[in-house]
Amino acid sequence: MGLLCITCDLDEIDCYHAVHGLPPPKGDQAHIIYNRALARVAAFLEDLHVPGTLFVVGKDIEASIQGVEVLRTLAGRGCETANHTMQHRYDFTLLGSEARADEIDGAAQVMERMLGVRPVGFRAQLISSCPDPGIPRCESGICCCRYWRQTCEFLPCRARCGHRVS
Ligand SMILES: [Zn+2]
Repeated sequence: MGLLCITCDLDEIDCYHAVHGLPPPKGDQAHIIYNRALARVAAFLEDLHVPGTLFVVGKDIEASIQGVEVLRTLAGRGCETANHTMQHRYDFTLLGSEARADEIDGAAQVMERMLGVRPVGFRAQLISSCPDPGIPRCESGICCCRYWRQTCEFLPCRARCGHRVS
């Protein structure tokens, strides 16, 4: 029997604006992913009766009380909340090791404070930018969430990061 992993990067709408060269979102739109779309993801997972892994950006969870509530509910249903860095910088892999560690540890601290659980799983921005073996070890864990570890061999990131399946 095959294994299905459902993961979702909770990139706030400003990430998409930045990628497409749009001006920053304003007002309620600035937090629409955590304040509205996350509830839809939760309903989707509940309808399927499956857990998922949600990659959380530290700066965004700090700005959304609704998002915190939904993520706590999902964690209670067996979903993993994993680390997607503090600022979601698209130049993450170009940062020095100390700056990368700050991005990972910063998000881990915020998530522990807001969600009550320190994340173990981690995903860099974009699968193609999965960190190399030189990524700094930190308290947050290493590449790939717990569900990905079992299927990581099928993902392009495995070849780059050298992640070993345990
Ligand atoms: Zn992302």
